[in-house]
Amino acid sequence: MKHGPRPNGYRDTWCGHLTSERAGTSTRVAGWVHRRRDHGGLIFIDLRDRSGIVQLVFHPETAPQVHQKAHALRAEDVITAAGTVSRREPENVNPNLATGEIELAVNELEVLADADTPPFPLEEGDAVDENLRLRHRSLDLRRPEMQELMALRHRVVATMREVLNGRDFLEVETPELTRSTPEGARDYLVPARIQPGSFYALPQSPQLFKQLLMIGGLERYYQIARCFRDEDTRADRQPEFSQLDVEMAFIDEDDVIELIEAVMGVVFEREGFEVAPPPWPRMTFAEAVSRYGIDRPDTRFGLELRDLGEVLARTEFKVFANALAGGGVVRGINAGPRDLARSDLDGLTEIAMQHGAKGLVWAFVEPEARGWRSPIAKFLTAEELAAVNSRLDASEGDLLLIVADEVTTVGQALSALRMELGRRFDLIDRSRHDILWVVDFPAFFWDAEEQRWDAAHHPFTAPADELSGDPAEVKARAYDLVLDGSEIGGGSIRIHRRDVQEHVFELLGIGPEKANERFGFLLDALRYGAPPHGGIAMGLDRIVAAIAARESIRDVIAFPKAASGADPLTGAPAPVDAAQLRELGLRQL
Ligand code: ASP
Repeated sequence: MKHGPRPNGYRDTWCGHLTSERAGTSTRVAGWVHRRRDHGGLIFIDLRDRSGIVQLVFHPETAPQVHQKAHALRAEDVITAAGTVSRREPENVNPNLATGEIELAVNELEVLADADTPPFPLEEGDAVDENLRLRHRSLDLRRPEMQELMALRHRVVATMREVLNGRDFLEVETPELTRSTPEGARDYLVPARIQPGSFYALPQSPQLFKQLLMIGGLERYYQIARCFRDEDTRADRQPEFSQLDVEMAFIDEDDVIELIEAVMGVVFEREGFEVAPPPWPRMTFAEAVSRYGIDRPDTRFGLELRDLGEVLARTEFKVFANALAGGGVVRGINAGPRDLARSDLDGLTEIAMQHGAKGLVWAFVEPEARGWRSPIAKFLTAEELAAVNSRLDASEGDLLLIVADEVTTVGQALSALRMELGRRFDLIDRSRHDILWVVDFPAFFWDAEEQRWDAAHHPFTAPADELSGDPAEVKARAYDLVLDGSEIGGGSIRIHRRDVQEHVFELLGIGPEKANERFGFLLDALRYGAPPHGGIAMGLDRIVAAIAARESIRDVIAFPKAASGADPLTGAPAPVDAAQLRELGLRQL
């Protein structure tokens, strides 16, 4: 903390600011009792405020009454204390504490609030059950680790604002009560009392508003925006999350990429988070999927996928032959020399199946003629075995994992296996961070379940190619930023012409009537002169968690939802009164 407090009846300095320079002076501090130790006669209190900890000492001879009061102090009591800063005896100096050379000999003490015994010891911190910590978040937030995480989050946001403000961006707020904004998730709905039977939707992102701001001539916009998506909670996903939302007019992909490299470059540098200096490498979607199986590759380790379609083109093994005949692929990874038991292999098969694969082929490369020990070895010819081995650079003892299916499923299954092996065998070089852009995404993908085309990013993304051909071949002017295998940002150049937007809606099965009903306000705005524009959204929670090396974004959100999606602190979501429902024109089923 840089500025001292304004002296008042509670304090005139921060605990953490008291150093030997202040020895001999009088001062007053306030805060929470961190720890109390009685040492024959003397009582020591570690007093904590946001700035740090200072040791208070109570002498029975010099201040008997105050000493008496100090006896009753318990952890987390709130006090104000005044006294004289004195140097500690050399043997009592604590080199681990900023204030470790001094202590405050107290001659005045006032207890401002008693604390009951906390439901968990604050020092145990991360080891304590998360739900208990979330239920008592005000206690949890007192832990120095949590205070540092909140300060880190604040600094990251402040840096983002500073760089963007320096580049003439305007911070603009957009509505939270709005209409559905399609980002591919379920909406949170808010019933409207003023129009019973109608609902607002909480925004999945400010997407359309930021486009309207560009059409509105604001040129450069940003916002730390709250987004709401009704999805299952995971370590890196919450029902509500924050993003740095950005939009610019008269720009192309390189402008957005350069801007974000400037913003994130400064954020990373200031926080001592080591990534390569920008410009960051760009990888096409096609390359990411063929080498790593997914569009957010963790490139800190190998185990890359190889395509086996060519070497197995004439195989008679049904599983492979059928996949290839059906337009699918056969791909594999060489997991290296791994000595895995049958139960481990079953576990890997289970992972592949959780990601949609029908099964997993595993094989250990044998010494003789480099054959295989594998349940399917007998179905492949010696030439095929040799060809697969060579394609996977396999040597004796290597474990090969192969999946045959349609291309997306194979990618997802093998990429999940790759990550599992990376973790299990400690292959990920955690001493470094890899950041890269993924570009040249497809614009549309075929949703086999719904039997229709869907937008890969969102329906407002500008296609890079003419829309007259096969939608599967059309590329999107979209880009994602990937850090250590996690997507930390994504955006696109937008459609700024009404005819193109209408065409895309049509392709996505959103007919003119529906388009008008849902997005009429956008189509209308596009009628009156929209500039070419584009932008991006950066996942703030994930960025802060990555810098802090935290697995869960919940650690960097002051009041997160629990893994269940509920809030253990407030008890939300909670039932409401029948009267409230009536007022909203709702009835419980
Ligand atoms: N609205 C997008 C999202 O939230 C980001 C963007 O296209 O700018 O993912």
